[in-house]
Amino acid sequence: MGKRKIKRAKSWLKLVPPEHPTLNYPAEILTGIDDVTKTLINDLFWLLSKHGGLGLSATQVGCSRSVFVMNCGERVAVINPVIVQLSNFGKTLLEGCLTFPDQYVEIERPNEVRIQYMNEKFRQVERSFYDLEARCVLHEIDHLNGKLITAYGDLVEGCHENR
Ligand SMILES: [Zn+2]
Repeated sequence: MGKRKIKRAKSWLKLVPPEHPTLNYPAEILTGIDDVTKTLINDLFWLLSKHGGLGLSATQVGCSRSVFVMNCGERVAVINPVIVQLSNFGKTLLEGCLTFPDQYVEIERPNEVRIQYMNEKFRQVERSFYDLEARCVLHEIDHLNGKLITAYGDLVEGCHENR
């Protein structure tokens, strides 16, 4: 990625608290890609790496757009995701969320999910994700539906696990 001539201040970009409306209502489906969404995707990747997280949705920064980014080794930007298939087998793990720092909820998720979505160029993609990436995709899709990890159970303080 090239250097920007003007460093934009990203101080506006902040995680909003759990009670914020964008975290509690479904996000808006995008009908196309615009400069605001391109900037949003770049900024979400920036904030994700700043916090050392695995996934981050637009709704977590107070923006009601159906967009999330993830990085479980590969950077993936996802717009308007739709689940097309879920595996029958799952796993229960303690799962974290940047919206609830250092707190976790035990959640059972399928090991595999197949989704259709638009990539950052607004091209249609269909792809399967497995294990940690599948968990991350499902977690972020929950965010875009206004669902938080607290819907699955009580938060526990913790120092293990990740995200
Ligand atoms: Zn989250």
